[in-house]
Amino acid sequence: MDLFTQVKMAVSVKEAAEYYGLEVKRGNMVCCPFHNDRTPSMKLNEDYLYCFGCGATGDVIDLVAKLFNLSSYDAAKKLVYDFGIDPDKPPAAAVLRKPQYPLAKASQRAEMHCQRILCGYLHLLEHWKVQHAPKTPEDTFDDRFVEACQMLDYIEDLTDILTFAELEVRVKTVDMLQKDGMIDRLEERLKRTEKEVDARDETEIG
Ligand SMILES: [Zn+2]
Repeated sequence: MDLFTQVKMAVSVKEAAEYYGLEVKRGNMVCCPFHNDRTPSMKLNEDYLYCFGCGATGDVIDLVAKLFNLSSYDAAKKLVYDFGIDPDKPPAAAVLRKPQYPLAKASQRAEMHCQRILCGYLHLLEHWKVQHAPKTPEDTFDDRFVEACQMLDYIEDLTDILTFAELEVRVKTVDMLQKDGMIDRLEERLKRTEKEVDARDETEIG
């Protein structure tokens, strides 16, 4: 049996959603993490999800891939790791094993929050590095380009840690990010950038 099938048999969409900090409401509905969802519009079925708001759909591996910005293969590996699934054991045995490291709800949510902010910022930096690169050697460097060059590796390292490091390291990293205010600053920054983009779109249309 391949890794994907094994993971899908061992972990339901709902289990993964809960483990990674989504709050499952009545009727297995959650607030969709993939669009700005105020009331739960994503339905979790046993082996797939569907969002009535944005149309997001997929299985447990797609969910984790999207949440953490991973390839399907890396998402499957993360599930194997987090849920203590042993690829060499038959799935029936895997099902009986509880997550190796059940995180407290609060720290799960904190970790998810950090990961989402970091991913958002990472995408922004990747975009800036291309969009605002100097076109000629005489060009003065755009601030955004400089920021991208300075921060990209560091942010990439952080998202890697939050995705693949063992629990203790992840908890420490989240703690550090929250204590030194970095996550708050980045969240602010992302919000501001979104507003700027919105404003620009409006002027362009109008
Ligand atoms: Zn949605």
